[in-house]
Amino acid sequence: MPVAASLGKGRIMETEQIKLSSQEQSELLNISPDYVRISMAAAIELGLKPGRIHGCGCGCINLLQNYPEGCFANCSYCGLARERPGLAEDNSFIRVDWPLFSTDLVAKKIAEKEAESTVGRVCIAQVQDHRANDDLLDMTRRIRKHAEKVPISALAMATLLDKNILKEIKTAGADIIGIGMDASTEEIFYNTRGKGAKGPHDWDYHWEIVHMARDMYGSFKVNCHIIIGLGETDEDLIDMFYKCFSQKIACYLFSFNPEPSTVLENAPRQPIKRHRRVQLAKYLIEEKGLKRGAIQFDENGFITSINSNEITIQNTINEGLPFMTNGCPDRDGVMACNRPYGSYRPGEDFRDYPFKPTGDELNLIREQMQLNGNMGN
Ligand code: SF4
Ligand code: SF4
Repeated sequence: MPVAASLGKGRIMETEQIKLSSQEQSELLNISPDYVRISMAAAIELGLKPGRIHGCGCGCINLLQNYPEGCFANCSYCGLARERPGLAEDNSFIRVDWPLFSTDLVAKKIAEKEAESTVGRVCIAQVQDHRANDDLLDMTRRIRKHAEKVPISALAMATLLDKNILKEIKTAGADIIGIGMDASTEEIFYNTRGKGAKGPHDWDYHWEIVHMARDMYGSFKVNCHIIIGLGETDEDLIDMFYKCFSQKIACYLFSFNPEPSTVLENAPRQPIKRHRRVQLAKYLIEEKGLKRGAIQFDENGFITSINSNEITIQNTINEGLPFMTNGCPDRDGVMACNRPYGSYRPGEDFRDYPFKPTGDELNLIREQMQLNGNMGN
């Protein structure tokens, strides 16, 4: 997962940025750990930006590290990728703007919100940068200092981690580690994030860190972000869901949405029918014990049917929960990271709902899924 960076004080051309040392950057620019980007929904929730979020509140304060160069990795779908043209400050992260604020101000606003009601969770996302580990620890401690009880996730950069850093993140106050696996197969990972994309990431090392973190943080306290729409089949995704679930690793689904000027800017989004079917299958696997053999695929690896009890399937759809955003829970175990506008823009159909869909929304979901009696018996 990526983020855009801002220079904050005046506009310095890209060539000049690159010449600044880390020391000069921290003195002249608004960078982490003293500054942090915040999702627009979270900024509205904390009163840092005006506005309203349609239909729901924002359960998680999503924060992102900020450096002038954006991210030194080069993932082919990401607005912060090293080789994406333009200044990092002009680039977006998951197609939306992430305004920049002082970390201490954000920490104080979180504390104020905690005093009024509660904040579901805070998440601090790293980018690939030589300062990212020290700054993640610093930023986690600042949040913890102001808001003693708020649950904190670290959306960490596996390539930068080792056992010691994982321990330090835990000691600083995070109880969950998120890892942007993003690709659901090794080949897609290599081509979009690894050497095939001139990026630093390695599939095996990502899994090594995921397993290390799961052993240290506990069952389902580590999650893998997985993107639907990077060229994988439904079968690849289903295999990933079973793999994670069997290893007590949470798996959170994200939706590919092409970012302008990235390598994948012209790649299509997956059809909504596909998204809905994968969401339903994932929920049945994780919550209803659906067996692997019950899911049928066509010759291209896309779901054609799920051989399960029709009543179970219909009741599961009626629950609405399969179609909600996947994300880390709050302190009571209820999903907190609902990311309004993370997978759709205002006015577009929801891909994942940041609230529980009911009534007309469920009717729409049924239409989009085009079950035609093929899913269940
Ligand atoms: S690691 Fe990849 S996906 Fe994450 S911020 Fe960097 S370029 Fe983007
Ligand atoms: S799902 Fe968890 S790790 Fe991922 S962005 Fe949300 S809070 Fe952070």
